[in-house]
Amino acid sequence: MSKQPTKQEAFEQQLADRLNAASLDKNNPSHIVPAKLSLDSKLRFRCHPGVSCFTACCGHINIILTPYDILRIRRYLGNLDADEFLLRFTTPTYLEKTDMPGVKLHLDEEGRCPFVTPEGCTIYPARPTTCRYYPVGMSYFHEGANEGAESEEFYFLVKEPHCKGHEEDKEWTIREWRIDQGIDESDEMNKEWMELVMRRKSFGLQASLSEQAKKMFFMASTNLDKFREFVFESSFLDIYEVDEETLAQIKEDDIALMKFSFKYLASSIFNTGELKMKDEKVKEAAERVKRQQQEKVKEAEKTYEELKALRDQMRAAQQERRKRAPDAGQG
Ligand code: SF4
Ligand code: SF4
Repeated sequence: MSKQPTKQEAFEQQLADRLNAASLDKNNPSHIVPAKLSLDSKLRFRCHPGVSCFTACCGHINIILTPYDILRIRRYLGNLDADEFLLRFTTPTYLEKTDMPGVKLHLDEEGRCPFVTPEGCTIYPARPTTCRYYPVGMSYFHEGANEGAESEEFYFLVKEPHCKGHEEDKEWTIREWRIDQGIDESDEMNKEWMELVMRRKSFGLQASLSEQAKKMFFMASTNLDKFREFVFESSFLDIYEVDEETLAQIKEDDIALMKFSFKYLASSIFNTGELKMKDEKVKEAAERVKRQQQEKVKEAEKTYEELKALRDQMRAAQQERRKRAPDAGQG
């Protein structure tokens, strides 16, 4: 019988899982400090251009981009076209040990971030959520695998030997650190999308996700320009109920469109019902199925009638031959 992990072992395993999914060196998990931190826990750290390791952490990393990260960077780069941004700065990947496709920052030949220079990060005000978190990590502790099981948010500290920021004398609580780095805002923007990824992760790969659903998830998560075209230039609005106010918002406002895309993905992939199909469309679909059924029944009836008529003709012809046969014998 396999031994149940203790709470501490489960906690450490989740830290290791988190480490694999985050931007850290997975060959050396020892730099995670094995202590569960809360918002009020203290952190001694400061990163600034004067540290000897400045920008050392901007290479050989795995930075997954959330939809809000992509939007924020594109805006910072002068509303860069989504296709161009994806082609120039990203590489496709899978998210958080799932089969859900997304993108990560594309590193140059030396393994460096495309936005790093000796002077620092060229997109600092718009840097991705992962960069804001470092050296703090966040994860969830699940009490059990069952649905509805309690899940508790916790933090942990990453202390990599090359990072001299830990030797500085600035002290914060995790709460203060989050505010200073703009993490609260990023997390709020990404929340519903992260929930989709986590939900998929908790389902496990045994629950299959169609290729079509994966493509839709990728498109909506990475390319808002294409998602907008999909909403306004396909039969989308004939099928889904979207009120006038929402329509006006998502036409003009990228954040509103992004939030709307999360609702669409939740409804279409996990059937959450957040986006309703038009009643008449549901009725139309039911009518169409009924009509198709009736047509098939009619076709079957017609075929049967034709076969019956053929069979009757053959029988009549056979009887006729039998009638004539005795006459032929008397000739
Ligand atoms: S986006 Fe900026 S902070 Fe993040 S890895 Fe690149 S250069 Fe460093
Ligand atoms: S102090 Fe740490 S976070 Fe700041 S540049 Fe150095 S390695 Fe990166």
